[in-house]
Amino acid sequence: MPDPCPILHAPGLIYSAPMTSPQHILEHVFGYTEFRGPQQQVIDTLMAGSDALVLMPTGGGKSLCYQIPGLARPGCGVVISPLIALMQDQVEALQAAGVRAAFLNSSLPFHEAQDIETALLHGELDLLYLAPERLLQPRTLGLLAQAQLSLFAIDEAHCVSQWGHDFRADYLQLNCLHEQFPNVPRIALTATADERTRGEIARRLDLESAQHFVSSFDRPNIQYRIAQKNNPRRQLLQFLRDEQQGNAGIVYCLSRSKVENTAEWLCQQGFDAVAYHAGLPANVRAEHQRRFLREDGVIVVATIAFGMGIDKPDVRFVAHLDLPKSVEAYYQETGRAGRDGEPSTALLLYGLEDVVKLGQMAAMSEGSEEHKRAERNRLNAMLGLCEITSCRRRALLRYFAEELAEDCGNCDTCLEPPQTWDGTQAAAKLLSCVYRTGQRFGAAHVIDVLRGSENEKVRKFNHDQVSTYGIGKELSANEWRGVVRQLVVRGYLEVEGEFQGLRLTESCRPLLRGEEPIELRKLPAQAKGAGAEPKRGAPAEILPADEPLWEALRACRKRIADEQGVPPYVVFHDATLRGMVSARPQTADQLLAVSGVGDSKLERFGEDFLAVLREFDTATNG
Ligand code: ADP
Ligand code: ZN
Repeated sequence: MPDPCPILHAPGLIYSAPMTSPQHILEHVFGYTEFRGPQQQVIDTLMAGSDALVLMPTGGGKSLCYQIPGLARPGCGVVISPLIALMQDQVEALQAAGVRAAFLNSSLPFHEAQDIETALLHGELDLLYLAPERLLQPRTLGLLAQAQLSLFAIDEAHCVSQWGHDFRADYLQLNCLHEQFPNVPRIALTATADERTRGEIARRLDLESAQHFVSSFDRPNIQYRIAQKNNPRRQLLQFLRDEQQGNAGIVYCLSRSKVENTAEWLCQQGFDAVAYHAGLPANVRAEHQRRFLREDGVIVVATIAFGMGIDKPDVRFVAHLDLPKSVEAYYQETGRAGRDGEPSTALLLYGLEDVVKLGQMAAMSEGSEEHKRAERNRLNAMLGLCEITSCRRRALLRYFAEELAEDCGNCDTCLEPPQTWDGTQAAAKLLSCVYRTGQRFGAAHVIDVLRGSENEKVRKFNHDQVSTYGIGKELSANEWRGVVRQLVVRGYLEVEGEFQGLRLTESCRPLLRGEEPIELRKLPAQAKGAGAEPKRGAPAEILPADEPLWEALRACRKRIADEQGVPPYVVFHDATLRGMVSARPQTADQLLAVSGVGDSKLERFGEDFLAVLREFDTATNG
């Protein structure tokens, strides 16, 4: 057994910072046995007093890269973070692990802020979180100048980039740290992948000569699935019922009204769902966010207004009921799933109407022609990702200039290679019908004509007289929509104007004449074994026999979390509870060996969890 950590203050075990090795801190404070990815090298760099720039995907383990050297080096580590909510979460989690952490921001009453300042000056703080505007106040800079500092960590460093969507002017001034505190090492961290942003961060924060650590942006624990809409609500329901019972997740919709309707409908279906969008009163939003963070298994139905600064590690799924605007947006939104590294699913449902709607939004958006073209290109890249028949993850990473050596085996196209059919004839019929009806009607009408509908609109325009009337009865309307969508996405058809009329493009000629073969993706209902929805995403690691224990451990965690006023994952992550289920520890030493159990958490929560574990052990043995 390594030496126990010295106790400084009651209550609980408080860790004494200096003179302890990073490895020791990893094991005793955080309860982990090994460093992950480049963590060790990053930490060594800071321990040696040098600067670092770290690019790691969400969930990669960025926090330990500065928290551990912050503790191991003498003095207090200063963490600059843009969002107050994020700061609170991190500080709570650190305090639960016994670390002397605090934040200073405008939400604190004056006397509390003063206590923290005093603690800092007396060397009684290991990590201090600050928003950039607070840090840059002369008063704060003066305070820091009097304290001993172990490092500066600049989190969400992409906020310095004017290209990004999270630009914060205050971040630009952070280069003053370098000048005012030349001997304090700095580390900047971000999950934003692209090279332009990285270059800008290095330049603006004076980190060009720092060590750069660039990790793979793959999120192997996220299963990517993109399916065509046929009955989106039923598809979502089936997904939730078959695979995500009791799990927390996010359902993204484009419009506020759809957010509200979907949340209400999910509640009627027996799920614990709440709505979140910028049009809701601030107190309702805050309450819904609080429930999502603090309670187990809450589903948030939201517009993309939700997510920034949500650091919940156990989001098990992200479902999109509307198409994201770009691959970047898709990657960022799906990235909110599975920060804890546990199996998670990203499900996207899309259809012809999404293609049309987003295309129109791009066309009508304000801005220059160049801007519109760029938006259109981004949308096309997203559609390309939806329509490909090869590995989604490879395509996704390639978009961020990263090459995967082989297919991932954990996306829908890998798990169930899509079936295709020879659409040459169908495409020729459709294009010719668009032409015969004058290239101004929407998909629904063109399909009615193809299928020989006798409705009023068909008769009104005499479209029962055109040569393509009724030549497409072999496919259902839904199947025709699939054909239209794929031809639009591949650039053979355009959607135009207020009535979303279909128009031929130059490139469609050979197809129109049936001279160019085209393979189309089958709709789920067309595919063999239809109804057999994709396999279970996350392998259910809890065996049915273990479920009572799992539930009892979760209940124990929830009770403690409520008592302490923190989210359940601050007590223990799912992975840690899972570790308890498989290891069945009966003593404190055995419990300490479970990943995620450190000294302080053992001291504070150990007995409660051991009581549950012992009860189940007797139950099974007796
Ligand atoms: P990021 O900030 O990069 O999104 P976090 O720092 O929040 O990621 O870490 C993601 C998850 O991985 C957290 O649950 C954290 O406790 C866990 N983690 C980080 N490093 C390790 C490690 N070395 N061993 C086990 N778990 C780790
Ligand atoms: Zn794949």
